[in-house]
Amino acid sequence: RLVQNMSTIAEYPAASDCTTSRVLKIAVIGGSGVGKTALVVRFLTKRFIGDYERNAGNLYSREVQLDGDQVAIQVQDTPGVQVNANGLSCTDHVTRSIQWADAVVMVYSVTDHRSFDLISQLHQLVSNAHGERSNIPPIILLANKADLLHVRRVDAQQGPLLASALGCFFYEVSASEDYSQVHGAFHRLCRELAKQQPLPSQPSVTTVGS
Ligand code: GDP
Repeated sequence: RLVQNMSTIAEYPAASDCTTSRVLKIAVIGGSGVGKTALVVRFLTKRFIGDYERNAGNLYSREVQLDGDQVAIQVQDTPGVQVNANGLSCTDHVTRSIQWADAVVMVYSVTDHRSFDLISQLHQLVSNAHGERSNIPPIILLANKADLLHVRRVDAQQGPLLASALGCFFYEVSASEDYSQVHGAFHRLCRELAKQQPLPSQPSVTTVGS
């Protein structure tokens, strides 16, 4: 049984060591077990680590090339939100993360309809945390575990419909099988952020693979 300590991500440049002054902050939210940590690890290291030390409060960072600019990205993984008798649970950490973030990734698993049902409430949490509608950060909706077709519980059409109703970008991805879709989704979000908050002109810097 491979237990991969997440601290290996420290091999990658930390945002605090960055040569760039620009930091894009992303919060990843969703139900438990939908693959939030797996997606963050996949995006930051290109690897799928199926069995890793669970530590959902982690903040990870690295530098990437974004359309020719060197930017630092910080990704806040969060504990899974669940519904209990009083509504959503575990929301304090999630709310703080959303308030801190410039952009939000909402995740559900195509194998878990309850995680899909949570998304509208999570979107409401993002709206509430940012006050006015004009302050709502860019949001991307990820339908994860697309490789598990035989146990799919959320129809392929449902995700795009919900994303369109909520005004989010949508990607169906598999953290375990497909790096390029995960990379494409996170980069799309970063591009949206960069559009909203133009990057300062940068001096030329060493390229770090993205
Ligand atoms: P979190 O609680 O949302 O952070 O979920 P995790 O990242 O801990 O993932 C929960 C479980 O789902 C782990 O056993 C992962 O290996 C597995 N998992 C995550 N993403 C995928 C995926 O895309 N495909 C498959 N088959 N398993 C995945």
